[in-house]
Amino acid sequence: MVDVLEVLDVPPPAFMLEPEIQMFADSANRFFERAAPPDRIAGWRAAGEVEREFWRETGAAGFLGVMVPEAYGGPGADFRHDLVLLDVVARQNLEGFALGLHNVIVTPYVILHGTEEQKQRWLPKLVSGERVCAIAMSEPGAGSDLQSIRTTAHRDGDGYRISGSKTFISNGQIADFIVVVAKTDPTLGSRGVSLLIVETDEVRGFRRGKKLDKIGLDAQDTSELFFDDVWVPAENLLGMQEGKGFSQLMAELPRERLLIAIGAVITMEKALEATIEFKLAEAKAKATVAKVFVNDCIARVLDGSLDGTTAAIAKMWTTETEWQIVDDCLQLHGGYGYINDYPIARIFRDSRIARIYGGSTEIMKVIIARSL
Ligand SMILES: Cc1cc2nc3c(=O)[nH]c(=O)nc-3n(C[C@H](O)[C@H](O)[C@H](O)COP(=O)(O)OP(=O)(O)OC[C@H]3O[C@@H](n4cnc5c(N)ncnc54)[C@H](O)[C@@H]3O)c2cc1C
Repeated sequence: MVDVLEVLDVPPPAFMLEPEIQMFADSANRFFERAAPPDRIAGWRAAGEVEREFWRETGAAGFLGVMVPEAYGGPGADFRHDLVLLDVVARQNLEGFALGLHNVIVTPYVILHGTEEQKQRWLPKLVSGERVCAIAMSEPGAGSDLQSIRTTAHRDGDGYRISGSKTFISNGQIADFIVVVAKTDPTLGSRGVSLLIVETDEVRGFRRGKKLDKIGLDAQDTSELFFDDVWVPAENLLGMQEGKGFSQLMAELPRERLLIAIGAVITMEKALEATIEFKLAEAKAKATVAKVFVNDCIARVLDGSLDGTTAAIAKMWTTETEWQIVDDCLQLHGGYGYINDYPIARIFRDSRIARIYGGSTEIMKVIIARSL
């Protein structure tokens, strides 16, 4: 990872040392240092969300939608650049700023599955920050088991009517470009699931519920969303084909899981840095093993060979190990570890979710077991 830490003696992936990537990392570091000083970040934590304006600033600086091809207003960079950005954002304590969600999870749905017209229509806005993304899968009764979602999208004239409610949606208060997972044919199981784009300022019947009061990730707005007969034109069906939602969601899943694994390794390093005077040999050994494995996964995602089982192993192992290390580090702080003035306290609260979202540890085990 870019800013090679002295805490772990693991060399970064080779691409991180390429001059072009280093220059990109330098300019990202400079931008985020200047645009997101500690007092501004503290304000977002207190407000429970990142200012909408900061997304536009990030877009204007060229750090949103970096994988978007030039033909659609993007810089046409690749996943390596997003890896750099994720690293920079994590190390600058911008954990509430869901850049990975916007750049690596949602925008690629449009790049990979959108029609030509959809790419022209949406991608430039995702690059500029005019639109901020969310992905609405989870529902009050359907999290791990996505097939049991109840949100529907019924054909109505030249479009679809979406009805249902979602919960735990990251960027839920500020997003205006929401990929909604809905059943266009409830009789077909996973083959009846489709992805529809809701541009929130262009529809009626869309409501944001309350901002959920979480134990960590204070600056990230996580919310309920309600769709009361929201009508969208048929052109908002991603890829303009019904029933493709599941395969569209699954296509980039290994990469999405790797994001969480990378975040887990960075958190381990930060926890070690915050506790380093205690000489945590065991934690360092575990974090080193995790980083070497994640670096191997990064190489595999870049050459296209990262499979779902390995990504599940990475996600499960790193997030479980992250939790053990963070807990050990907090323990060694004694009572101070429980006080929010100390970085380890926030690291502890923020990292707890990693074992749950993006597919829980138990679900990762189910996936890994299938390969046995
Ligand atoms: C901060 C935060 C941000 C989030 N962001 C988003 C977002 O942007 N978009 C979105 O759609 N969702 C988001 N989520 C939702 C998240 O993905 C779900 O919470 C997660 O998938 C678990 O689903 P659930 O909460 O319904 O729990 P459940 O699925 O009900 O699981 C409860 C428990 O049962 C276990 N379990 C479930 N099924 C099995 C099984 N088959 N075998 C063994 N154990 C099982 C689980 O591991 C868990 O321990 C977010 C959640 C949080 C807290």
